[in-house]
Amino acid sequence: MQTRNCKIVATLGPASESPDRLMMLVRAGVNLFRLNFSHGEQAGHAKRYAAVRDAEERIGWPIGIIADLQGPKIRVGTFAEGSVKLSYGEVVRIEASEKPGEAGLIRLPHPEIVEVLEAGDLLKFDDGKFQLTVVEKGAGGLKARVDFGGELKSQKGLNIPTRRIPISALTAKDKSDLAYALDLGVDYIALSFVQSAADVREARELIGNRAGILSKIEKPQALDELPEIVALSDAIMVARGDLGVELPAEQVPIQQRRIIRTARAAGKPVIVATHMLESMIDAPTPTRAEASDVATAVYQGADAVMLSAESAVGRHPQTAVAIMDRIIRAVEEDPEHWAGLQRDMARPEPTTADAICLSAREISDVLNCAAVVAYTATGSTALRLSRERPRCTLVGMTPHLSTARRLTLSWGVRSVVTADATSTEDMVEKALQVVQGLGVAKQGDRFVIIAGLPFGRPGKTNTLRLVRIE
Ligand code: PGA
Ligand code: MN
Repeated sequence: MQTRNCKIVATLGPASESPDRLMMLVRAGVNLFRLNFSHGEQAGHAKRYAAVRDAEERIGWPIGIIADLQGPKIRVGTFAEGSVKLSYGEVVRIEASEKPGEAGLIRLPHPEIVEVLEAGDLLKFDDGKFQLTVVEKGAGGLKARVDFGGELKSQKGLNIPTRRIPISALTAKDKSDLAYALDLGVDYIALSFVQSAADVREARELIGNRAGILSKIEKPQALDELPEIVALSDAIMVARGDLGVELPAEQVPIQQRRIIRTARAAGKPVIVATHMLESMIDAPTPTRAEASDVATAVYQGADAVMLSAESAVGRHPQTAVAIMDRIIRAVEEDPEHWAGLQRDMARPEPTTADAICLSAREISDVLNCAAVVAYTATGSTALRLSRERPRCTLVGMTPHLSTARRLTLSWGVRSVVTADATSTEDMVEKALQVVQGLGVAKQGDRFVIIAGLPFGRPGKTNTLRLVRIE
């Protein structure tokens, strides 16, 4: 089982979805796979889902699965000629219509969006490659000036960073995909283009606790409500692809740091995503800047780093995972990394769980323990323990496979499914078997157990036990 703290998420796609390739990615170190519902049919995702569960069975430890919903992605309409040329300074008309556009006329199949736009709003097409500024609003639509142009093709994406988009975070397609993904049994549902805490609440109504909610932060509007969104979510993604279109590039690293800190303070797992090893879509090695980017996320204490196109459609998915693994391990061997993690640590909350997790970290540090074992039913004890970022191995022991799978995203946690302990002696005995089975502790080593007694009643971490292996 993996022996690094920061986890790896890989997006599945044609380059990685065959059972053999997928298994190679697991062996190279992938902890969770992302099914990207922006692409492909539902049946294809069911096949990928089954392939991951097969690989999990073969490898013998839990693998997480994230269903990433497309969300309210806005697209430009079609063009009669397939594309249209936009030249610098040109003023074009923008209309709400399903009909194809033409030279000097862009049509958007989203009347509700055209309606809320005003002079001064920015329209960024195709990942921000083309930008227009709205200069006039009239009865029939808008006029916009081209700030940077080129050949805009039909149905390319559109980002409007300057305005809250009056669309729910779950479209009709998302609701259908959501029901499908929950039926499959995915561990997390990723919500794209979350704009507000209300968006997360709406999703929670539908999802309940059947999967964790992973909110993707990729809209400036979400940054305004970040603490509330983090509080309502089970996990967070720094979705730098769209975030970097919506915000000026120089704001992305600043917001990345802030999002990681906010999520870490709340004890919610946080993923840094997009363009991490982008050049490896083609090249067999990363650029120095990419290696440095992955390392930075690890130094900042991110729970996970993610591969997108690199593993979905790239030429070297397995090498990309292996390189990510090596970069993470190298940082985690740097003593400066540990100093940084401690420095950035938020204070514990005044709960018994946090008091016990803090103690477990300090005890394991002072006595140089081999592991801290957390008995956890819902995963919450393991999350609070992970939040403390202890230096030794963290083991989450849970009777629920679903909890074990969700914990694959949490920094440092290795999760193991075991029956609940029946007594304190049994608690020690089971933990002993697990740490020895994982090979993390041997004779003479000490380890710490934390648990909520009596067993089977969630939400009461109240016990800390120190064990020495005789
Ligand atoms: P996407 O999300 O890959 O689904 O667009 C991640 C991002 O925007 O960074
Ligand atoms: Mn995105």
